[in-house]
Amino acid sequence: MALLHNPLRNKGTGFTDAERAALGLRGLLPPAVLTQDQQVERTMGNLRQLTSALDKFVALNALHDRNEALFFRCVIDYPDEIMPLIYTPTVGLACQQYGQIFQRPRGMFVSARDRGRLAELFRNWPERKVGIIVVTDGERILGLGDLGANGMGIPVGKLSLYTACAGVRPELCLPVMLDVGTNNPALLADPLYIGIKQPRLRGAEYDALFDEFICAAQAAFPGVVVQFEDFANLNAFRLLEKYRDRVCCFNDDIQGTAAVALAGLYSAVRANRARLADQRLLFLGAGEAATGICDLVVAALAGEGLPEAEARRRCWLVDSKGLVVRSRTDLAEHKRRYAHEHAPVQDFRSAIEVLGPTAIIGVAAVGQAFNRQVLETMARVNARPIVFALSNPTSQAECTAEEAYRWTEGRALFACGSPFEPVTLGGQRFVPRQGNNSYIFPGVGLGLIAAQARRASDAMFLAAARALADQVTAKDLAQGSLYPALSRVREVSAHIAAAVVKVAVAEGVAGVKRRVRLLEFVRAQMYDPHYRSFV
Ligand code: NAD
Repeated sequence: MALLHNPLRNKGTGFTDAERAALGLRGLLPPAVLTQDQQVERTMGNLRQLTSALDKFVALNALHDRNEALFFRCVIDYPDEIMPLIYTPTVGLACQQYGQIFQRPRGMFVSARDRGRLAELFRNWPERKVGIIVVTDGERILGLGDLGANGMGIPVGKLSLYTACAGVRPELCLPVMLDVGTNNPALLADPLYIGIKQPRLRGAEYDALFDEFICAAQAAFPGVVVQFEDFANLNAFRLLEKYRDRVCCFNDDIQGTAAVALAGLYSAVRANRARLADQRLLFLGAGEAATGICDLVVAALAGEGLPEAEARRRCWLVDSKGLVVRSRTDLAEHKRRYAHEHAPVQDFRSAIEVLGPTAIIGVAAVGQAFNRQVLETMARVNARPIVFALSNPTSQAECTAEEAYRWTEGRALFACGSPFEPVTLGGQRFVPRQGNNSYIFPGVGLGLIAAQARRASDAMFLAAARALADQVTAKDLAQGSLYPALSRVREVSAHIAAAVVKVAVAEGVAGVKRRVRLLEFVRAQMYDPHYRSFV
């Protein structure tokens, strides 16, 4: 019976007669034996009966809790259908209603009340070997803001993607909610709220809890990779700076986003027969995504021989107060690197007029900000305007794919943060693909684990971006796709992981020796959700 209740080993009706006899399962299951393929079809059939995305999310979560192999088979076999249900955009909705739909805990909830006993908490986790932790404090969930402990849906969803997209073994994955309270009044008033009802910890108290978390996690699971997820600006940048040279950690919102966007830019300039160095990027938004992308673009250009100061001048930011320029006195530290000498400009469209960017990149979570005028202006100043509407969830997207193509007469090189259907315009069919971090972080995570890396470096993210862009085919580009098909994500992740291992070895931060057949090396470590025989 314990086997049937262990999601890592359960096969349900998939246990064969021989297994049932050997494992004491006779009588505990209906007599019919189904193949895993049949179970997948049954699951998909049931799922398609459900009408709301949230109901599908709940059903998939329940499957995940019952039978991990079957859950991951469904995700891997139907990525286009399932990934938007277990991750963005549905996960945003799920987090907003997490207290309501909560059934079983997954991962670990570490709260401010546990201060001083985090080591003890980690001993309660049933697995002794953990390869990767995704941790959030729930303060900036997608573009939705402070969702407190309800933000747990994000680390859970993200780790599912580590397994589905890159084959990181499920038992190596640990989602963690660092519950430091919430400043969201609706949650504080909600009787079903699952977190601690107190204002967020700040300052020294926050830092002490976070430090205890890092130390306890490293002590319990030596060498574990820690991915910081959906922290608000005030903590995201400084935590990354504080820990990046001490443990193997990265912030996906900053570095993963940067790599996926840079890969998209590589594809766009390839389609455009241009050079990255010739681009002028204008960002709507000046937060983690925007400055992360800028930093990686600068690193890429510096690698191509452009002086860093010049590389920075390729990147311009617009925040809620207008163009980020040197004379502004209200700028947070992370924006100042990109505050150039320029007269103030109040709004985004005017900034396009005065700067003439080749690319606009939306990462401000301001829905519909790339309106018709913005897109027409871009189309006027560029033969092939690069338009990335990366904000999540869909309601926050700067424009739809249809709008991007329509208002640029089909000339836009477009990528989006949310899934959009193909668009047919003037007899041409465009297949927009998501500039979604899920192309990058799973492969990076797999690479870091496989390399037993002691640090995660910028060079690894640069290599990951290059590896992703290299997987885009001429056929992809011809139909307007700046990323490979999601159905190829495991193959893509293997290439990214191999690239990361190579850098880790070259930088001397790997626990493994130099390998010749890197791709085979990482592939051999990838989880395969097909059932294996227990007898
Ligand atoms: P953030 O909170 O760090 O940054 C948001 C920025 O937007 C801030 O600098 C803020 O000043 C600016 N802003 C707010 N209102 C504005 C306005 N009216 N005009 C101009 N700027 C404004 O958040 P982030 O981590 O940078 O993420 C931003 C968005 O990008 C979110 O929707 C997130 O989901 C999305 N994102 C998507 C991907 C992806 O894979 N596609 C990856 C990362 C982030």
